[in-house]
Amino acid sequence: MTDRKIAMQHDKKIGLVAHDNKKKALVEWAKFNRVLLAHHELYATGTTGKILERELGLRVHELQSGPLGGDQQVGSMIACGQIDFLIFFWDPLEPQPHDPDVKALLRLAVVWNIPVACNRATADFMISSPLMDSPYDRLVPDYEVYRKRSIEGFEGADEFQGGDA
Ligand code: PGA
Repeated sequence: MTDRKIAMQHDKKIGLVAHDNKKKALVEWAKFNRVLLAHHELYATGTTGKILERELGLRVHELQSGPLGGDQQVGSMIACGQIDFLIFFWDPLEPQPHDPDVKALLRLAVVWNIPVACNRATADFMISSPLMDSPYDRLVPDYEVYRKRSIEGFEGADEFQGGDA
């Protein structure tokens, strides 16, 4: 499969998610990096977003709370090109009611080749990268090949003609 380029602008569309035991770490990290985050567009799952907006004094677009579908919303925004950068402090020591959504979100971040930080050290390296403040072309496999795969032999083949994202 060949690659195609998806342009990331100077101002990134950043998704921020933290499980309860990791919220304090995310808030500390975001406060420390407030100036660097300020010109980007910020999106967050419900509770994370509320806390960040209050603590940073920056506009944060709030989605649903994670267990109520927020992680899935972030994933769908990644698939639609509306989020292109993810800070996701998930908790490795506690099972979550929405574990399948967590896995799905991480998977979509890889499918669309967006930068993801799952811990503070990675987030530090990412936010201090010179690429953070410049345009960047992400290489994403050209999924047209997948979309145009043969549908011969599928039951009810007409129904497979739909998606064109
Ligand atoms: P929350 O969701 O920001 O609403 O707490 C985060 C999560 O658990 O995915």
